[in-house]
Amino acid sequence: MRTVLRRRLLLAAQTDAQAQLKDGIWTTRCLHCRRVLQLRADGEPLGLVTLEHVVPQSWFGLMPAQLLTSRVGDDADDPRNLALACAACNHGKGRRHDAHGPLDTRAVEVVTALLATRLSRWRAPPSP
Ligand SMILES: [Zn+2]
Repeated sequence: MRTVLRRRLLLAAQTDAQAQLKDGIWTTRCLHCRRVLQLRADGEPLGLVTLEHVVPQSWFGLMPAQLLTSRVGDDADDPRNLALACAACNHGKGRRHDAHGPLDTRAVEVVTALLATRLSRWRAPPSP
């Protein structure tokens, strides 16, 4: 797996208040369905763990999405915008919502709720 992706998966776990590191394994729950997800301590996924961009990457730079993107520093890869999701949920979300732009009221509602969930699980990253 690519190093940059592993690093982002690890950052998503480190900044997730529900994630716990024990015996070299991070354990947390899917942002959507709360299924248990695990990563190795180096960020390598165990099972079908995927990196979720809570506010879709394609929404960054679009005026109608600015209220949402500004909450994560207008950076799609800001750790506040990264979460762990199981593959089924992440790909399902991609089909259902990301394809609709930020002018779609329902898509904005879903992303707003997901971002609130992500930020409620936020904890500061470890100092480098
Ligand atoms: Zn899930």
